[in-house]
Amino acid sequence: MGKYKVLTCRKPTKCEKCGREIAKGEKYIRRTQRTNKRARCNDCGAPRPSEMTGSETLSQAYSIQENLEGYTDSETPLDIVGAIRDASNAVEELITEIDEKISNIEEYFPSGSPASERLQEHRDGLEEWQDELDEQLNEAENLANILDELYKENGDEADMDGEYGDKLVDLQQILSDLAGSLSI
Ligand SMILES: [Zn+2]
Repeated sequence: MGKYKVLTCRKPTKCEKCGREIAKGEKYIRRTQRTNKRARCNDCGAPRPSEMTGSETLSQAYSIQENLEGYTDSETPLDIVGAIRDASNAVEELITEIDEKISNIEEYFPSGSPASERLQEHRDGLEEWQDELDEQLNEAENLANILDELYKENGDEADMDGEYGDKLVDLQQILSDLAGSLSI
């Protein structure tokens, strides 16, 4: 895992992400990974966990999580349900990739290796997360159906202070809990 700090720019430098020049005196984010130092402008913001890890598997897992987080302020119930379903599918694909990696490693190290053990741990964490995603997907679909019904009954008059608003908050809560529940 890399580290980052917010510093004041002393010598103009380029943002690693957008390429914009960071001016002298401007606040910027300095990222250190191993011995590499990189700068990032304030508009691009601090690197996300997916950009901070040297592990391809972790980076992919964190990207899925970050995508999900991006939906927490999402507009429609269907978007939220879709985001959870996409995350579950993406995790499933990632688990398949990890299995391939593990079996490749095991060809050379039949009695195991630290690398395959680490992958196995990531796999376990992802599998747990996927179970949770699938379980909550049902719950989210139920809520989205109720919201849809309420919307059909009331149209744009659907009461944000009443049942509609309450259910929508519940649905958003499911999404944000899921985004926070990956532990690898
Ligand atoms: Zn930038």
